[in-house]
Amino acid sequence: MQNILEIKDLNVGFTISSQLYQVVYDINLSLKKGEVLGIVGESGCGKSVTSMSIINLLPPNGKIISGEILYNGKNLLSCDKKEIQSIRGNKIALIPQDPLTSLNPLYTIGNQIIEVIQLHQKKNKKEAEEIAVEMLEKVQIPDAASRLKDYPHQFSGGMRQRVLIAMALCCNPDILIADEPTTALDVTVQAQIMKLIKDILKKENKSMILITHDLGVIAELADQVAVLYSGKVAEQAQVKDLFNNPMHPYTKGLLNSIPTTKTEKLEPIEGQPPDIFDDIQGCNFNPRCKFVMDKCKTIDPPIKDINGHAVKCHLY
Ligand code: SF4
Repeated sequence: MQNILEIKDLNVGFTISSQLYQVVYDINLSLKKGEVLGIVGESGCGKSVTSMSIINLLPPNGKIISGEILYNGKNLLSCDKKEIQSIRGNKIALIPQDPLTSLNPLYTIGNQIIEVIQLHQKKNKKEAEEIAVEMLEKVQIPDAASRLKDYPHQFSGGMRQRVLIAMALCCNPDILIADEPTTALDVTVQAQIMKLIKDILKKENKSMILITHDLGVIAELADQVAVLYSGKVAEQAQVKDLFNNPMHPYTKGLLNSIPTTKTEKLEPIEGQPPDIFDDIQGCNFNPRCKFVMDKCKTIDPPIKDINGHAVKCHLY
């Protein structure tokens, strides 16, 4: 199957006090039609920076140093502002993390959805309203037509997240980027939202990039997964492969730190991820790795493909 999105050798940095600090290094990822690519890692690992680079939504001090992001073969990084605006929302849409801060408390839900539709499509108010109702029904909001008149505070957290999913879907995008879509929700509501996303993706054959720190969400929704550590891909594989046969010490650490019914004792990964100012020589995981060898402190390992399972570690 053809790739709908390809990220090639992406390098991104931030300018702080006139100096450029690199935060994402040589990322290579691809997404096929109808597939979910999970990007997992701790806070600050570069997963959100990578996804925001795709739709050109880096903060003002963010800078794409080099690389290509190909959407159906077109390099998004060489698009002008107008072109990228028409792709963002229309072809590639974002489901943000926090439903409370992503919706404007002063406008009704209807106004906010209709505004998004009219921004991207030539629809009059009545036509846009009909689409808005259809989208709210799609995300299973009961009594959708009358709820258009409600304000965000009149919805529960789970319902607000459904509204954001409806907004992302209203221009029928090919790719959804979901940044921690269930993090702000209660556990029971999380399960409902994950089921909803799964059903919509399957029914509409959409592709998704799923950004999360939660391996449970990855196991539930993703087809393939990239584990990021400190701005670099540490491991990448089909989800089943990664869970059945984790190779990178960091991935093993992540899996050992989540409780299962068989867990006798949780084993957290010692230490903290490096920050943007740290200059680590060799493998970036070496200060926390239980298997560290001399060469890990001087030579950054290349990423190796072992039967479709990629790992960046001197042990392989
Ligand atoms: Fe650990 Fe060395 Fe592998 Fe890095 S390269 S993960 S330090 S064993």
